[in-house]
Amino acid sequence: MIFEQEIKRRRTFGIISHPDAGKTTLTEKLLLFGGAIQEAGAVKSNKIKKAATSDFMEIERQRGISVATSVLAFEYKGYKINILDTPGHQDFAEDTYRTLTAVDSVIVVIDVAKGVETQTEKLVQVCRMRDIPIIVFINKLDREGKDAFDLLDEIEQKLGLRLCPLSWPIGMGQDFEGVYNLWEQKLKFYLGNNKQRVSESVEITDIFSDDLTDFITERQAEKLREEVEIVREVYPAFDRKAYLKGQLSPVFFGSALNNFGVAELLDCFVEIAPWPQPKKADERLVDPFEPKFTGFVFKIHANIDPNHRSRIAFVKVVSGKFERNKNYLHVRLGKTMKFSSPNMFLAAKKEVVDEAYPGDIVGLPDSGNFRIGDSLSEGEVIHFRDIPSFSPEHFRFINNADPLKAKQLAKGIDQLMDEGVAQLFTLEQNGRKVIGTVGALQYDVIQYRLEHEYGARCTYEPFPAWKACWIQTDNESQLAELRRTKQRNMARDKHDRLVFLADSEFNLQMTREKFPDIQFTFKSND
Ligand code: GDP
Repeated sequence: MIFEQEIKRRRTFGIISHPDAGKTTLTEKLLLFGGAIQEAGAVKSNKIKKAATSDFMEIERQRGISVATSVLAFEYKGYKINILDTPGHQDFAEDTYRTLTAVDSVIVVIDVAKGVETQTEKLVQVCRMRDIPIIVFINKLDREGKDAFDLLDEIEQKLGLRLCPLSWPIGMGQDFEGVYNLWEQKLKFYLGNNKQRVSESVEITDIFSDDLTDFITERQAEKLREEVEIVREVYPAFDRKAYLKGQLSPVFFGSALNNFGVAELLDCFVEIAPWPQPKKADERLVDPFEPKFTGFVFKIHANIDPNHRSRIAFVKVVSGKFERNKNYLHVRLGKTMKFSSPNMFLAAKKEVVDEAYPGDIVGLPDSGNFRIGDSLSEGEVIHFRDIPSFSPEHFRFINNADPLKAKQLAKGIDQLMDEGVAQLFTLEQNGRKVIGTVGALQYDVIQYRLEHEYGARCTYEPFPAWKACWIQTDNESQLAELRRTKQRNMARDKHDRLVFLADSEFNLQMTREKFPDIQFTFKSND
């Protein structure tokens, strides 16, 4: 019974947005509500503090990018909330995609002035592929922005979402007066730029009553009434089932910076968002309520403590109860392991935990046993492998710049690839190593980390590839022919899967025509 309740009170989600839309600010305000931090600014200042003590994070700080995906847990009104933070920077998009395999729902933050931006589009697309339930938070209402109806149209069109506003703004920018909460039928007034002052909400069940003009002008009241009427006519009523299937997205308006509209978002979120959901493994569907523990690694974070060259493997608990010091099977290695100091992350603090439930994320200190996508169980051979690799956008040869450190270099590359920093391809023809990344920035990060963590030095050389294509075919003779004629472009990825590194779109098209029985995809198949 307790086990069941523990699962049902968990909400594990991610916040996604284009950089600068306000993801960090919103995360921080949510933590404030959970009492996980005491002051505004704590999340950011913690980021900077970490940066100062760790060389790798220094790059992050200098470039002003949040590279790491952090995990934050807090309690709110009896719910246990796990936020998986995701880097907004596009060079680290792959990290975000992987994180999305560990969430049960997401909140998308959109800047009211900028509307739907490129990164938002890409991330929402990934969520939609998985039918992840989505809530939309439109931020920065204290600034001038797009008309609410226009913005909703834009979101529906560009993101392909069906929307259902659960709050509605009264004015915006200079004239921002507050939001009407359609979910609870309450009105909340915005008191201006003072972060500490948040008004009590006023309950107005009938916005057509005269009471409304006690709070806002006749003109504003009229506008609100009109707009709410349109909203009720044009948009579907909230339907939790549709939301849970990823077919309907509630929308909230507010200002994260001013902590306005955030409580409404959180209160509704805990009520409607899904608890941990069943997860597909290669072998079967695994239900969170099953008594036996299973989980998978979705993220490896290196160098959290600069004094130890340690890593932390983040495991999402899928089913059963995870316990400290209990023997579990590391499925890929076929090895039994136990973990004496699993961590959980309560706001900025790391704590050792004795147990964790489905939906929770535990951090396991690791010396190199884990790879992204690894599964743990109580003995069952199970693979949660829906963490695909996507084709990188950039390719470079990596060379050893210090012949005496060949071993260190090999180990460094190996471990960084396990972490998912980039993808390694080994050319079939000559065994040369090619590093593929989503963004050019990752090459600097790799070079820097190889030197500072492994004492190895590397140089890069251009490798003329356009995309990596994973291959599937039953036609052995075509495959043999492809490998023979395209020797120069054939490589193995980290899992020893065969990959065709196409020079150009044209080159791929020609190859496809020549080998019609071979499927080339920009995404690994398992
Ligand atoms: P992230 O890149 O999505 O994490 O965005 P941040 O949370 O770092 O916010 C980007 C910038 O927008 C920062 O300067 C914030 O102070 C600012 N910001 C965030 N929310 C609001 C808001 O509601 N109103 C205004 N005016 N600025 C905001």
